Amino acid sequence: MPRAAFEELAAQQEMNGEKVFKNPRNAAAGSLRQKKAEITARRKLDILIFNIQAADGAKFSTHSESLEYLRRQGFNVIPDKVVTSPEDVLTEIDAIGSGRNSYPYDIDGAVVKLNDLRRREEIGSTAKYPKWAVAYKYPPEEKETTLRSIELSVGRTGVIVPTAIFDTVMLAGTEVSRAVLHNQDFIDQKDIRIGDRILVRKAGEIIPEVIKSVSHAEDSIPYRLPDTCPVCGARTERDESQTALRCTNEFCAAKEYRKLVHFVSKDAMDIEFCGPQLIQALIDGNMIKDCADLYSLTAQDIASIDRMGTKSAENVINAIDKSRKAPLDRVIFALGIRGIGSATAKLLCEKFGTIERILEATSDELNSIDGFGGVLTENVLAAAKDERFLSLIRRLRDAGLEMKYSSAADSASLNDNIAGRTFVLTGTLPTMKRDEAKKMIESAGGKVTGSVSKKTDYVVAGEEAGSKLTKATELGITVIDEKGLLELLGS
Ligand SMILES: [Zn+2]
Repeated sequence: MPRAAFEELAAQQEMNGEKVFKNPRNAAAGSLRQKKAEITARRKLDILIFNIQAADGAKFSTHSESLEYLRRQGFNVIPDKVVTSPEDVLTEIDAIGSGRNSYPYDIDGAVVKLNDLRRREEIGSTAKYPKWAVAYKYPPEEKETTLRSIELSVGRTGVIVPTAIFDTVMLAGTEVSRAVLHNQDFIDQKDIRIGDRILVRKAGEIIPEVIKSVSHAEDSIPYRLPDTCPVCGARTERDESQTALRCTNEFCAAKEYRKLVHFVSKDAMDIEFCGPQLIQALIDGNMIKDCADLYSLTAQDIASIDRMGTKSAENVINAIDKSRKAPLDRVIFALGIRGIGSATAKLLCEKFGTIERILEATSDELNSIDGFGGVLTENVLAAAKDERFLSLIRRLRDAGLEMKYSSAADSASLNDNIAGRTFVLTGTLPTMKRDEAKKMIESAGGKVTGSVSKKTDYVVAGEEAGSKLTKATELGITVIDEKGLLELLGS
């Protein structure tokens, strides 16, 4: 994973309150282990070939020839150089080492290989490794500097993130003056205090980190994260299950701002022309408080903001309008239920199909989803009980958001007639078994319950339908037969 792609990903994860990959290597491995191929595809992985085992019809006498062959086939190949003396080998190792920051990706060493393939065979291998190659590893770069202050920022979920601000040092080819300190535990373990001499590194890890405190300044005191939110002044609270410190104010301005920035972001609702600066201006101008407010904005509202022309304002409104069609999994991710990322949002949709069904899910149903259970399940259940969250969803619905989900496997399976509606099956259907009918309704996004109530949309009645049919008639609920159901299903 190229450094730039990694930095982008890490920044996004930090903002979303997700677990942040430690370095490009972990990020690449984690991306490949993804069950969802489309997430892997978005991660901007690259490949550089270092060896060819065999190619039909091609004969090589040297390693460099084989790399040249690969290049001609259009592959990205690792940089190589042929040298002919031990001195040149050492010089080249030094040269690669001092230029290692000029590559767009991280390297941790260089490999010296015998170029002549016939000689390789003569020299052979031990039981564990070839004798014709040897790896040289570069030591990680570390620098000492002075910690000047600790900056606090508030994330979308209210997490207060401390960042060390230190005197600028050159590390891995770039100027570095800040490093995330994560949480109180991290600070305590290393006993990091303002004014300390600290050791920092970047090494294989793109994200700068404080390795340790070398010495404290005179009269320094242990650093404590604040009891109040640096943005709104509300009480902060330490999460029991996690080490994070959070602002307790549901309406904290920092949270609303970050939530909105997340809502419009590319992986969420993907609302173009609506960046962090515009969000801030809209909040400052009292035009929006939360994401539902976006949908009642007019072009005049937006044009009233400094430096926004009518044309740009219209672009924003069009982009907002377009997002009304965003698929349900994006909407769920955008709403920012704690711990629910793009992938888990998709899993929820895959299982339940509609927002209504997700909100009615029991903990058993949620736990049956691969990767759910524990905190994740609790977070979804808590959101489903949260009046503010429910009213936000109602307002988004009223604003015309479609919130439809089409399974990636079968995008035609969700059916407007069925999705989000409640069915009751009664009596014996002429050709279908009841279980079969139930499955078909559910895979089209509908719900099947056991008893008739005002919430029932359709009663599917077969032969010898009993009390349920009577009740449906009393409540004035539409009664259909198997044929009617098949028509609704479109089959
Ligand atoms: Zn706050």
